[in-house]
Amino acid sequence: MDHKNHNEKVEEESHKCPECGLHYKEKTQAKKCETWCKEHHGCNLEITNQAIENK
Ligand SMILES: [Zn+2]
Repeated sequence: MDHKNHNEKVEEESHKCPECGLHYKEKTQAKKCETWCKEHHGCNLEITNQAIENK
């Protein structure tokens, strides 16, 4: 898998969680992740499973 090309595409059409750096198609999902990351300083698998990187 070519991560560089993948990430370039991801930047354009996704929302990034500034805390953990994962990308989400839904802005609300990115916000959820950001909120969780800030509070728990760790990832919620239920949320990060939705990340573009984990699809
Ligand atoms: Zn996050």
